[in-house]
Amino acid sequence: MSTWDIAAALARTTDRLAAAAQAAGRAPEDVALVVATKSVDVARTLEAVAAGACLLGESRVQDVVAKAPALEALDAQPAVHLIGPLQSNKINAALRHVACVETVHSASLAAALGARCVRDGRVLDVLVQVNVSGEEQKSGVTPDAALDLALEVAATDGLRLRGLMTIGRNSPVEAEVRAGYARLRTLRDEVVTQGARGATELSMGMSGDLEWAVAEGATIVRVGTAIVGPRV
Ligand SMILES: *Cc1c(COP(=O)(O)O)cnc(C)c1O
Repeated sequence: MSTWDIAAALARTTDRLAAAAQAAGRAPEDVALVVATKSVDVARTLEAVAAGACLLGESRVQDVVAKAPALEALDAQPAVHLIGPLQSNKINAALRHVACVETVHSASLAAALGARCVRDGRVLDVLVQVNVSGEEQKSGVTPDAALDLALEVAATDGLRLRGLMTIGRNSPVEAEVRAGYARLRTLRDEVVTQGARGATELSMGMSGDLEWAVAEGATIVRVGTAIVGPRV
């Protein structure tokens, strides 16, 4: 049995976010919290929702599908963001349960997603994932190619481009991590200026660095271990 108290940890994280927003001269409600429940089972996921989580982040479509019956039975259903890679053979399953795909990193994935949404008569919120750190193990389009891809996604029927997402550099050096987040913000500004007016979201920042991300303009942070506990 875990003794980790999800409700208390969620409250601590909400306090951290509010303090970070205040320090940056921003309103706390301008930063949405995606609780990354990807590493915990259905019971712990439901615990997070009961504690007030209304946005969940899942990495694997199979987990989204497995948790869907329990989540969809709730009166107040949380919205699920896909924050891990989406393979094209999982698109149909993902679309049944996901409100936003944060990990669009190629034109071919965007085309496949959009075509499926058009067939279903719906519009899906998406973010374009950018690899601002250039670290090889991270997915995402390169910063140089991000503007073109984002504009292409914005023009794709069935998709609504909401903004950009990145996984920050895995580094304890504040300046290095923040440089990547600043890069994402600059890219987002270009995307908006070039016509994708609704693409204002910046999904960046996790348990270890959400303060730095909020200081650089994050509108969505994705927090896992600080809320659901360390991976066991
Ligand atoms: C797991 C994960 C997070 C949360 O990471 P923590 O360090 O546990 O807060 C955020 N974003 C993505 C894409 C993830 O896979």
